Amino acid sequence: ARAARAPQFRTALDALRSVYGFDAFRGDQAAVVDQVIAGGDAIVLMPTGGGKSVCYQIPALVREGTGLVVSPLIALMHDQVDALRANGVQAAYLNSTQDASERAAVERAYLGGELDLLYVAPERLSGQGTRSLLARGTLSVIAIDEAHCVSHWGHDFRPDYLALGDLAEAFTGVPRVALTATATEETHREITQRLHLSDARHFVASFDRPNITYRIVVKADPRRQLVDFITAQPEGVAGIVYALSRKQVEQTATFLRSKGIDALPYHAGLPASMRAEHQARFLREDGVVMVATIAFGMGIDKPDVRFVAHIDLPKSVEGYYQETGRAGRDGEPAVAWMTYGLSDVVQQRRLIDAGEGDRAHKQRQQQHLDAMLALCETVTCRRQNLLAYFGQASEPCGNCDTCLEPPPTWDGLIPAQKLLSTIVRLQRERNQAFGAGHLIDILRGAGTERIRSQRHDQLSTYGIGADLSDQEWRSVVRQLLARDLLQAVGEYGTLAVTEASAGVLRGETPVPLRRDVATGTGARTRKAS
Ligand code: ADP
Ligand code: ZN
Repeated sequence: ARAARAPQFRTALDALRSVYGFDAFRGDQAAVVDQVIAGGDAIVLMPTGGGKSVCYQIPALVREGTGLVVSPLIALMHDQVDALRANGVQAAYLNSTQDASERAAVERAYLGGELDLLYVAPERLSGQGTRSLLARGTLSVIAIDEAHCVSHWGHDFRPDYLALGDLAEAFTGVPRVALTATATEETHREITQRLHLSDARHFVASFDRPNITYRIVVKADPRRQLVDFITAQPEGVAGIVYALSRKQVEQTATFLRSKGIDALPYHAGLPASMRAEHQARFLREDGVVMVATIAFGMGIDKPDVRFVAHIDLPKSVEGYYQETGRAGRDGEPAVAWMTYGLSDVVQQRRLIDAGEGDRAHKQRQQQHLDAMLALCETVTCRRQNLLAYFGQASEPCGNCDTCLEPPPTWDGLIPAQKLLSTIVRLQRERNQAFGAGHLIDILRGAGTERIRSQRHDQLSTYGIGADLSDQEWRSVVRQLLARDLLQAVGEYGTLAVTEASAGVLRGETPVPLRRDVATGTGARTRKAS
């Protein structure tokens, strides 16, 4: 007979109180825990800090057997398991950092029914070895953490996650719960489909982080702007500054130190001992500013980070949301500050072009970048835009820069009408549709080969938009896309009008556009009307 870990608690609340010392469940926790304890599947979308761990740990403690936790964050497993053990939970992990004897000991403990929780990396489950081991013991629940990694659409795709779908068939009767802090509708749909969770209950928490103030400024003198921002924060607070490259991390840390700020660099190229020391100082001391690549922060449990600053544009809104989410996890006021410029846009376009992947993949990356830029360029509430990106409707927040200091705008109605009527005409008269690049060429009166061969220089709108630069037009396109006044369709992102476009074409929908966008020229100095 196979051994199974006996239930450690009679009820979920008993477990919550004895193991964690919490008085009550928060948000969706109780409902998720009930669903899973009863043997049902669940998909949990909850922002960072929302309390996802409890959602699968408690069912593991209340049900018979061992809870399997699939997590890609190998570097954190050791700490997570230590923390659980300190609370009296029998937890262990299996990953590539262990030697054969350590692994064998964990396997014995699992088969002997001694474990409440077993953490494994997803790559362990793509082969048969770990699977047949698991099948010889008893699982109480299967938790798939960072479930967005299964999504091609998302920013963090991991092929190993695709093999997790058939856990449903391999372990019938074991409830599964997929959890993530990233929640676009597309990612949500892919989690449901690829992880075979069509019968799961869905728990979607609000993604609002009301205590975070969002601020995004155009780069002028970025280092000066960063120092001004940091020195304006209360004395002794901790913060994280994110940069894209290792070089940028080191130079920025050095610069901040020269200005008397206690800044430390952190990136994967530094010696492990230095990384550990910097992380320990960040966690324990007051007033440390960590300058880091995005490798830093995943799973770092420091609730009182008072600011997160981005000095390079994140690649996606999901990334931005996750990184800024590391500020203010204690619920006290915190600031997400970012500076971005045309150089960021140019650099990222180049990276996408030179990068790997087929055309569809590059198209997706481009759409991620455009959505990020639209958030930078919005004239309406940042939080409202951010939440809308995750499919959640909200009112203007009164706690972001666009709410607090409405940005100067210019009247974009005429350019919007020029663009939309070009799209409508091409569609009606020639049954054609194009992406932003070619449409902008038409509007600016460019003499490209494609314009000549398609005879687009014969269109009545040819050259009527020469007053705006290419970059300004791209900003117009992004802002119209973000407001649903324009839509990108199909794999190649050709542009089409929407229902709401009609109001713009009739001149009834105002189109205020931001003046301080990073277009390099023009719109910034144009007179507001
Ligand atoms: P996530 O994985 O969603 O980022 P965690 O599970 O790490 O969140 O929980 C975030 C923080 O909230 C932790 O410090 C945790 O101890 C705390 N927490 C979780 N659930 C509760 C609860 N029911 N009551 C009080 N604190 C909680
Ligand atoms: Zn706002």
